[in-house]
Amino acid sequence: MNVHLIRSSELSLETYTNVWNLLNKFQGPINFNESEDFEWDNFLYEQDWISEEQFKEVQKVDFRQEKDINSYSLYEESPSERNYSEKTFPFKEPQLTWEDLFLICEKYRRKYTVPENDLVFLLTDVSNDKNWFGSVDQKMRNVFIQTSNWSSFFGSEIDSRFPIAYEVVVWTLRIMMYRNRYELSQQLHAQPKGCMMDFCEHKSQIVLKMRTADICGDCLDYIQKRDVNRTALNQILETMDGIRSNILFRERSSVLNRPSRLEIRGYMKRIFLVDLGDLEVRLNPKEKTLFLFFLNHLEGVRIVDLMDHKAEILELYKRFSRASTPSLIEDAVDLMLQPTDGNINQVLTRIRSKFKQTAGDSIAGYYTIEGARNEVYKISLNRELVKVIEN
Ligand SMILES: [Zn+2]
Repeated sequence: MNVHLIRSSELSLETYTNVWNLLNKFQGPINFNESEDFEWDNFLYEQDWISEEQFKEVQKVDFRQEKDINSYSLYEESPSERNYSEKTFPFKEPQLTWEDLFLICEKYRRKYTVPENDLVFLLTDVSNDKNWFGSVDQKMRNVFIQTSNWSSFFGSEIDSRFPIAYEVVVWTLRIMMYRNRYELSQQLHAQPKGCMMDFCEHKSQIVLKMRTADICGDCLDYIQKRDVNRTALNQILETMDGIRSNILFRERSSVLNRPSRLEIRGYMKRIFLVDLGDLEVRLNPKEKTLFLFFLNHLEGVRIVDLMDHKAEILELYKRFSRASTPSLIEDAVDLMLQPTDGNINQVLTRIRSKFKQTAGDSIAGYYTIEGARNEVYKISLNRELVKVIEN
């Protein structure tokens, strides 16, 4: 089964890529495909946009049989809570209707001739008219997932890639379990019980689901009845477990004073935080050079003494730099190491901010290069947590 993940332009490429990387850590029959470069924002307002009639035809909606999910009673039940949530999250961004969002998926299908049975998931920061976090279209092939406003819930301590990836697998499983939206609306649990088939009206309920990463007995019976592919189910459950353990690791690591293991992989020495969902910390050539240099010097080095290590630093930088000539490479290193120019402080600051973005504020300090003026700078991380994998 192929799931095509399309990104809206508001959603950062980094978050998108990290969601994709996280999902691809768990192998199985479900393939999560990175989308082609697709400027859907432009398409939406294009003249040749398919009409509503064509769309309904595409969807093959049989309104006599399927009660539309729009009249899903759960949505109507708690108006007071809804008002509250709207106050909590003032959705200032433009809003699209569900139909618009599914049309975007449909447009993508047509443009790239996506096979009919493949799934297309639109990951978008744009909110929708019903204020849902995600939904599926009538033919159970196109899905949108709202990717914004997660930070209101998790603060800076968690990355939105976890709930987004979680929603992707949950909707994939729902599509495998239920034949249509009506059946879906009947089967989702109105009262959250920590099952992935809970209907979540609030993001806090999704957090509860992610922490339990469970599927209840009723739903397991249903899965059996529907004869869902077991290896696909296994892949989904492993992904859920992976997301859960990441979230728990993050929450506990600052209390337990235990940062994630760090792996340096391959010739390009890519940097991964193993216990945080194998997230990659993407450093540019200068940042990576300094980071690896200080990782090698447990005892630390004073900034003014860096010039004494120029050969070692140059050797690292040569590997990562795209500069064309040896003299350009050397110039760049000289510029970075000149104690008076201040370029090195900018690099150190950028390294800090990248680790904060990836690992969260509370544990980023283990990985960054810190020190006091005129004293040694060093990385405090316990080197037993560091593994270098050459290949
Ligand atoms: Zn359940």
